[in-house]
Amino acid sequence: MPKERIAVFDTTLRDGEQSPGCSMNLLEKLRMARQLELLGVDVIEAGFPIASDGDFAAVSAVAAECRTVTVAALCRTSEADVLRAAAALKQAARPRIHTFVATSDLHLEYKLKKTRSEVIEMTRQAVTLARECAEEVEFSAEDATRSDVDYLCEVFAAAIDAGATIINVPDTVGYTMPLEFSRLVQRVREQVVGDRNVTISVHCHDDLGLAVANTLAAIAAGARQVECTINGIGERAGNASLEEITMALKVRADQLPFETAIQTEQLYPTSQLLSSIIACPVQPNKAIVGRNAFAHEAGIHQHGVISNPLCYEIMTPESVGVPANNLVLGKHSGRHALALRYEDLGYAMQPEEVDIVYARFTTLADRKKRIYDQDLIALLQSSTVANESLAAETAEAAAVWARTA
Ligand SMILES: [Zn+2]
Repeated sequence: MPKERIAVFDTTLRDGEQSPGCSMNLLEKLRMARQLELLGVDVIEAGFPIASDGDFAAVSAVAAECRTVTVAALCRTSEADVLRAAAALKQAARPRIHTFVATSDLHLEYKLKKTRSEVIEMTRQAVTLARECAEEVEFSAEDATRSDVDYLCEVFAAAIDAGATIINVPDTVGYTMPLEFSRLVQRVREQVVGDRNVTISVHCHDDLGLAVANTLAAIAAGARQVECTINGIGERAGNASLEEITMALKVRADQLPFETAIQTEQLYPTSQLLSSIIACPVQPNKAIVGRNAFAHEAGIHQHGVISNPLCYEIMTPESVGVPANNLVLGKHSGRHALALRYEDLGYAMQPEEVDIVYARFTTLADRKKRIYDQDLIALLQSSTVANESLAAETAEAAAVWARTA
């Protein structure tokens, strides 16, 4: 049976870019957008055109440049907002207007100062206008997970009746939990969507570290579009991470039989490009793209573990585009090659440090055919941390050189 498709909606350039320290200029957004297109995302949300002239220009430029993806522009429900988004998308091959309004009583009372029926009317008008400007309209109910569910369903129904074909259920404040969220999505599917040709989307934030888990639970309950960002950047604790969602679907297809169009070998290069543009490094232990994500066999596992990588690898580094150095370094590599490789990685070492690391390297190389940069970095870290074993390591190293010299 063919697997069902999950559409990947990337909001790195909008939700991600608006988080502190992650702003990008026009050329940087364009570079990122081209890479996202290569990565295989279905939708690039390029900005919030009414927010600033810079955002307007960025959405226009991405729309003109990226012809094989849908380009989305965000707007609130006012006429000026919708028209500004439409104008920014004028050159898009596949434009999508993404309009949103809050639906929780908290937001209605304190932020919007509107009644529930006024918000339904705002929704209807915005979606109707957006549909006059673009074939494809997505509607988001901000703070959906803290909204009254019956009211939320009423707003979604109004959006669909006015022409929205994608309805998004955002966990704006990162508050929901997997079981609760899957029930909400299921309720929206049964109560609002039925057999209409409407896609349910989800947009999860990571305030409780649950953004990816909530997204996967929503897929199981019927969501067919996921909103996410590269490296999980975004407001506060960030958005659901694109690389984690797509690899979870790939590695655990037995549990979640869905597919995306993501070229997973482009995940690591995309992550690296974003880090270099926003000068914000990925945490070393970040799943999939962190520096240590594939270094599990090094360091603490060095003594006496079984040599088959399958014991510790649920996916290969190559499958997510992490460069392998197996041609450069293997069990027959010498100390000189090792020191040079470290130099390339930015670690200049004293000869005695090379001695210690080399001993660990040869032990690892005996068990592992391919030594990755991540392994080398972990070797280095374990070498500097485990002081008590340094003397033993040095003795071991001397023995190794005696044998190989
Ligand atoms: Zn968000």
